[in-house]
Amino acid sequence: MTVWDALYQSRATTGLAAQICAGEIAHSWLLIGPSGSGKRSAAVAMACSLNCPVEPGLGCGSCQTCVRILRGRHPDVHHVIPEGPIIPVDVIRETVIPEAARSPFEGRSKVFIIEEAERMHPFAQNALLKTLEEPQPDTVFVLVSDRDEELLDTIRSRCRVVRLEPVPEQEIVKLLLREGASEEAATLAARLSDGDVERARTLALDQAVIARRWLFRGIPGRLKSPPDAFDAAYEVLQEAKDAVKAREQVQRELVAELADAMGDGRGTAAARNALLKRHKRELRRVEDEVIGEAFRSLASFYRDVLAVRTGGRAALINLDVADDVDLWARSDTSEAALVAAIERCVQARASLLKNANLPLAIESAFVELARLVPPPAMSPAPW
Ligand SMILES: [Zn+2]
Repeated sequence: MTVWDALYQSRATTGLAAQICAGEIAHSWLLIGPSGSGKRSAAVAMACSLNCPVEPGLGCGSCQTCVRILRGRHPDVHHVIPEGPIIPVDVIRETVIPEAARSPFEGRSKVFIIEEAERMHPFAQNALLKTLEEPQPDTVFVLVSDRDEELLDTIRSRCRVVRLEPVPEQEIVKLLLREGASEEAATLAARLSDGDVERARTLALDQAVIARRWLFRGIPGRLKSPPDAFDAAYEVLQEAKDAVKAREQVQRELVAELADAMGDGRGTAAARNALLKRHKRELRRVEDEVIGEAFRSLASFYRDVLAVRTGGRAALINLDVADDVDLWARSDTSEAALVAAIERCVQARASLLKNANLPLAIESAFVELARLVPPPAMSPAPW
């Protein structure tokens, strides 16, 4: 088993794995593909292959080094993640460039994974360009993007480009079954994830995410009045706070690990500060992700009701609440109201990125959903 076995074996990923294994390593890579095509997983697998001491070039996936990389807890593998609509130039200038000039702490390669790289402000891209042009010998940049046309040509031309495809649902089910998920959980997760392996994996196997799913899937049926909407909003916000707390705990361990790894040498304070800054941004992102997930779940429920009503039951996403979807589809909830509800969810999700006041954003959206699409009264059984 190597880290690549956990990925969908497309021609692109096998080709990528073969290049790394053969030591044909570019200093900058650009992984392109739609959401869910496994770009980020491939980038992490690259970081493992480059650093694994047990199976160099392959990445065993189970040694200390691989496990820490897979969990995002290795001091030589850096993730740059947009905290809002853009990755500002400061992030590149203050955290990426100085860090890229240092040698790896303990690994063989220092790897920077820049997620949603197209969100780099043009100034940020220009700042990064110089580093890409004159890389340290043991530094590898992996840019990940689904809208690479927004990257500067100068950046793209510096990178070796790999194009990934979305993963077919059946392949996701197979992967999850191999990883110990039940058939039912694997099927539901694959359907909910829309071809996104990593999302499917957490939906099927991560207990915190599974518990959240239970909360989120019940919300459409609870939004009967404004007080119900406020209650549900409060619970979603609490979920987000719990996820932040769990991540904070991981971050504290990471800071301690970094201190152990570096001792009191020069550069420790700078590295620590860079890490703390990154952590702060990451917490906001965790919060946004949980709340975004709630809206995504609501939108997909209303979408399912519309689909069933128009004869598209085969395309049902929320398999675990199929009975509720059927009940709604038979009710007198209007199609216009369902469409408006979906739009409201999409809009609320987009507003999270703009640093909206989170409690207010959730409450106002839920109150409006309660007005637009209150749950149908339970119809009496037909006998
Ligand atoms: Zn390993």
